[in-house]
Amino acid sequence: MRRPFIAGNWKMNTNVTEAIELIKDMKEGLNLLSTVDRVLCPPFVSLYCAGELVRGTDIELGAQNMYFKEKGAYTGEISPIMLKGLCKYVILGHSERRQRFLETDVMINEKMKAALAAGLLPILCMGESLEENEAGKTNEKLSHQVQGGLKDIAANKAIVIAYEPIWAIGTGKAATGTQAAATIKYIRETVGKMWGSEVADSVRILYGGSVTAANIAEFIKELQIDGALVGGASLKAREFIDIVKQSAAIKQGK
Ligand code: PEP
Repeated sequence: MRRPFIAGNWKMNTNVTEAIELIKDMKEGLNLLSTVDRVLCPPFVSLYCAGELVRGTDIELGAQNMYFKEKGAYTGEISPIMLKGLCKYVILGHSERRQRFLETDVMINEKMKAALAAGLLPILCMGESLEENEAGKTNEKLSHQVQGGLKDIAANKAIVIAYEPIWAIGTGKAATGTQAAATIKYIRETVGKMWGSEVADSVRILYGGSVTAANIAEFIKELQIDGALVGGASLKAREFIDIVKQSAAIKQGK
């Protein structure tokens, strides 16, 4: 039985004051829902104060990116050892980074290795574009992204994968639960070919792309889907709590 996992990717939203307000607004509600792993991923500048605010709860934090070097002349970058102690997870390979900042599978693989070496748990994002989807190339793309992202990494049940079709991110056009589950099954099988089916069956694989309180049930009721990476809706305290609440209830069979 895989423990449900809901993460909020705040992207480049909220200044420190707003981040503090948002966490204060969600903390109590989220804290009650302990059958689900709840992870907040605010911008780097708010990670420290977020950590102070969630102290004493089992709400976890994640960063949205990092560089793969430990330290040195990399102006503007944040290293794994800087994040260690501030957060448990780090989102890697988000499609916005792949597209806007030209991150490749090779770079993402370097980041995966560096994160794990520093004791951070990666949330590895992957997904196909609309053109790839329409050309029937979804599985081919995901197969490359799984193999590229996990290359030369020892089997690890604790990493998390997020399947996020690019055409569904921030568009309001989510995949259907059935589509997402079928693709996630394929991702799991691909992980199984690299790491063996026992590990693949333990790795949490999330759906991401226009998840809201109105559609979370459709995804979470699928056995293959272990949770969600939520963007826009994670910036609304009540809605994010509702997403976690529905996930807890559905996965507990209530
Ligand atoms: C995301 O940022 O990973 C995401 C899925 O965004 P949204 O929920 O806004 O589509």
